[in-house]
Amino acid sequence: MNLVIASGKGGTGKTTVATSLAVTLARHGQTVAYVDCDVETPNGHLFLKPMVTRERPVEKLVPRVNQETCLLCGLCAAVCRFNAIACLPDQTLVYEELCHGCGGCTRVCPVGAITEAPHPVGVVKVGAAGAIQFVSGTLNVGESTSPPVIRATRQAAPAADWTILDAPPGTACPMMEAVRGSDYVVLVTEPTPFGLHDLRLALEVVKTFDLPCGVVVNRAQPGATEARDLCRQARVRILAEIPDAVAIAKEYSRGQLVVETVPGLREIFDQLCLRLLEEVPKEKCPHEMRQRLEAAIRASSQSPATGPPAAGDPFSTPRLAAPRQREEPTRAASAS
Ligand code: SF4
Ligand code: SF4
Repeated sequence: MNLVIASGKGGTGKTTVATSLAVTLARHGQTVAYVDCDVETPNGHLFLKPMVTRERPVEKLVPRVNQETCLLCGLCAAVCRFNAIACLPDQTLVYEELCHGCGGCTRVCPVGAITEAPHPVGVVKVGAAGAIQFVSGTLNVGESTSPPVIRATRQAAPAADWTILDAPPGTACPMMEAVRGSDYVVLVTEPTPFGLHDLRLALEVVKTFDLPCGVVVNRAQPGATEARDLCRQARVRILAEIPDAVAIAKEYSRGQLVVETVPGLREIFDQLCLRLLEEVPKEKCPHEMRQRLEAAIRASSQSPATGPPAAGDPFSTPRLAAPRQREEPTRAASAS
């Protein structure tokens, strides 16, 4: 099951949701791969604290011009949509950072003056955080084209029951590259004018890919209905609402996994998992896996300390109290 966690704008809590969901699923015995495709600012590692075991560079092919044979005809510059190659009166220059490696200039050159050479654009790291498989891509400083790094990061993801893909924010090419080919998209938003505006744009993008999706409202305020109204109009389900709480912000700023340290969040993420099971296409989520996860969540919710919230209202979960000490063995235990 490939789940993409995306948002129309940065800073909505996308990584908080992605890492917390990964930890929740692993705690319930699922195999999970967390894949950080937010390659310009990957930060999932700050919370999951993985052990990286492999690292490999990502390259793209860029043109090299043989100035001896170049006719200075300008055909290559004319075909380049990214202004990455310029034909000057005395030479033809390539701006490698701007090049998308499409190969168009090589094809149109009438005298074969252009060859292609690898150019490093980023790096992909692979490792593990307890039971969670961890993959993260990073775009090199100064590079402008993240899709090759996102593609390489996705390709490095190991097989798992759940692949949680942390997408780049926004609605441009990088986000589309991450969303393409997924099974379900979780859009994270916040109930501010900017957040809701960008949620509308993100919903449009997901619609163009014809993918099922749901919404998580972060920093939700009791009584604020704008996000619910928008989702009702767009016929998209709200999967969870995470309250606006100082305890969450404090734990986040300390690099803690809030689902493990802030009381009340574990129940919210258990509920999110159950709602995802109702939403994701049945053919993408084997019946046995679905049953196992449901049973594990229901069993853990019978503990008096983690009673289930009232159906449909995440604000009915226990009020957020002071953070608890992180239970270090949790993820290690779920590895066994
Ligand atoms: S490979 Fe494509 S993007 Fe790069 S310089 Fe040539 S035409 Fe432009
Ligand atoms: S298309 Fe070939 S010959 Fe023409 S300017 Fe470009 S590199 Fe030179």
